[in-house]
Amino acid sequence: MTALPPQPRDGRSGELAANLAAVRARIAAAAQAAGRDPAEVTIIAVSKTMPATDVLAVASLGITDVGENRDQEAGPKFLQCRDAGLRWHFVGQLQRNKAASVARYADVVHSVDRAELVTALDRGAQRCDRHIGVCLQVDLAGGSQPGRGGAPIGQVLGLAELVAGTQNLELLGVMAVAPLGGQPERAFAQLRAISELLVSQHPQATTISAGMSADLEPAIAAGATHVRIGSALFGGRHRSEGNLIQIPATPHAAG
Ligand SMILES: *Cc1c(COP(=O)(O)O)cnc(C)c1O
Repeated sequence: MTALPPQPRDGRSGELAANLAAVRARIAAAAQAAGRDPAEVTIIAVSKTMPATDVLAVASLGITDVGENRDQEAGPKFLQCRDAGLRWHFVGQLQRNKAASVARYADVVHSVDRAELVTALDRGAQRCDRHIGVCLQVDLAGGSQPGRGGAPIGQVLGLAELVAGTQNLELLGVMAVAPLGGQPERAFAQLRAISELLVSQHPQATTISAGMSADLEPAIAAGATHVRIGSALFGGRHRSEGNLIQIPATPHAAG
């Protein structure tokens, strides 16, 4: 029996194509406003809670990078999509005991924020003979928003040294989520300054992973090289008693 690739539901591909076109238009406008080339900005399609069929659909629309935030969901989805040639980004809070599992499929982990994760990811990567890119997640809320992850700013350079000294991890740059209720412009400017400091010591670590559906414009203005886009591409999501329910996309207001 030959297995056909799973297909998305009727109309879904068109919906995703329209959403992607809108996201690309926002990125182009933000890049132009900042005097940047939109080609410098990679979209990571954050497909958490969405089915593998959606991942394959956006891959066929030209998406090359996808992001997930939970190992239990990402592992099986990776297996379902493994022939699509995608780069897999792990963007969520990571527990040390999940690091070895994530190391089996992630190409880049964006949420490295403490020494024990560096060690556990490197060991996991060595075990499956893989090399994994690492972004250091920075806490821009100064510890006032626990549970969202990120290293204190003062620990970033030390963690960078640790990553640089591993066998199978490659230091790519920094990542942050703008603090809730703050001004994303200020947060991303701070991230940019941390990035410049990091690059002065690790010249290849130029990635700035910043910007989500609601704040990709200020992130691009501050130099983001990777934006992590979920709801603007796939539509809204919520979790209910462990079931994943998809709710229809609402057109995202530009700007
Ligand atoms: C969910 C998630 C995103 C995408 O968020 P949207 O607002 O849906 O675009 C980006 N980054 C991280 C770390 C996430 O968990």
